[in-house]
Order: sequence, then structure tokens, then C-alpha cells
Amino acid sequence: MTRIVRSENYTYNDLSDLIKTLCKQYSSIEKFTIGKSVSGKDITALRLSDGVSSTLFAAAFHGSEHITTNISLMLLEDLAYAYENSRSSDGINIKKALEGRGLIFVPCVNPDGVDISILGARAAGNRAGEITKQCGGDFSKWNANIRGIDINHNFDADFPDVKRREMDAGIYLPGPSRFGGDRPESEPETAALVSLCENENIHHVCALHTQGEVIYWGYKDYCLNRCKQMAQILAATGGYALDVPSGTAIGGGFKDWFCSRFNRPGFTIEMGRGANPLPISGALQIYLKAREMLTICAIL
Ligand SMILES: [Zn+2]
Repeated sequence: MTRIVRSENYTYNDLSDLIKTLCKQYSSIEKFTIGKSVSGKDITALRLSDGVSSTLFAAAFHGSEHITTNISLMLLEDLAYAYENSRSSDGINIKKALEGRGLIFVPCVNPDGVDISILGARAAGNRAGEITKQCGGDFSKWNANIRGIDINHNFDADFPDVKRREMDAGIYLPGPSRFGGDRPESEPETAALVSLCENENIHHVCALHTQGEVIYWGYKDYCLNRCKQMAQILAATGGYALDVPSGTAIGGGFKDWFCSRFNRPGFTIEMGRGANPLPISGALQIYLKAREMLTICAIL
């Protein structure tokens, strides 16, 4: 198998081409749109296999973490290959393992933020001046959407607490990261994921971030035991550590909202090690180290 997904930067336009190529190669992948970003870019979802319930992988909530787009699509590519060719992946018969289970991938939750991180001011449209000021000219670390709202702090999970912690951390205004907005689900990127989860029967979610080789699991007491057991399996498989979030990382996140809304398991996996943005050339290496863990996460 020659890999279609490569260890290189994918801007929104590149990603649109890549998805077309993947869908052409693998007829079992179904593409659909779950919403639009602030600047009107499609937020695309890809379905492999259909079932009573689905596992959802979502990546690139944060612009500087766009390597997770590559990693999520490398996983989809491997699973689609195994699914269509009746091959096993990491010793798992994928076709059989996916009986009754669907997989949904949202490889880029925040396409505007990713383009700002990769392309800089020219991707920021009429907000270029403001964004240049807010990030001090270092666009590569931009995590928020184009309005300076951090999507992973904009979900409806104890939002008043999120705002209080932001203020404690001295964050009062839109900027490169960690500002959750004035109200939960104010951003179309957040709303797109929320409506996807409301309209599909999602079994559990896996949100991909970077970095640290750490798995954050669950939220408060929701689905506590099952979530913990699954997290322990994943951590043991991938050699990743388990941790609980602290400071402004508590509440407001996608996993937090999903766990509390549906009382089902949710995981945030911090892929790879280093400083964000991780070098894109390392995407395949990070993926291969985590492949068995991610494959198991798909079918658990
Ligand atoms: Zn992140």
C-alpha cells in the first residue's frame, strides 16, 4: 500500500484535494459536510462503515496542532485499506471488528485556525492586522479560530467556571489561545460538532491534540468506570500516560461536553512529544507509534 496521506502541511485547499483523492481510492469512505467555519470553509466529516453507533475521531481543534489532521487521516487510510481488502491492521480483523460499529472522522475542526497557523496573515482576511497584533507576528502558534475564540474552550460544559478560570489566568479577550468566547457554542465550528453528535448515535469520542503522549479521559463522574477502563486499555497499548486536566483546561472542551451531555466516554489524546507546532515531518512516526492504540480506540 502506497500511503496517500503524507507528513506535510495540509492547508484547507490541500486538505480538500487530499480528501477527494482518499474518497476516490476508497469507495467505502463517505464524505459529508457538518457545517462551515467563520470564514465559510466547509467542515468535512468522513464516514467509514455504518453501524448502530459510531466512534468519532476529531482533530485540529487548535490551529498549531494541524499535524493531528495528518494523523487522523493516516488512521482512516489504514482502516479503509484493511476494511476494503479484508486485511488485518495490528492483528485486528477490521471488517469484523467494525460489524455494527461506524467510524466518523472530522479531520479538521478548525480550518480557519489551521490556515492561519500554516499560511500566516494572508489566511486571516480582513482580520489580518488584529491577528498579527494578537500573536505578535508568530502565526505558527495560533490555536483559536479566526475570531480569536478557542474552540476547545467554547463547549457547553460548566462554562461559567471556564470563564472564571480564564480570568484567573489573565485571559480577558480574543487571542491566539484559551479564550472561550462570551457564551458557549457561540462559534460555528463548535456548533457543527455539537449538531453532529446530536444527530448521530456516537458511542465514544476521541479528540486529537498535541502534545505530550498523554490521555485525558472522562469528565467529572460521568460514565466514570467505563471511561477509566477504556483509557487504561488505550494508555497501556500506546505507552501513553493518563492524566487529569488542570487550570484553564478544565471544562469547556469537546470531551467535557460530550461526556456530560451523553454520559458516554470521551478522550483527549495529546499526540507526540515536543513543542507545538510539532514538526510536520514527524507525523507518520507519531502515527505509527500510536497506531495500535488508535485502532483499538476505533473499535472499543
Ligand atoms: Zn489542543
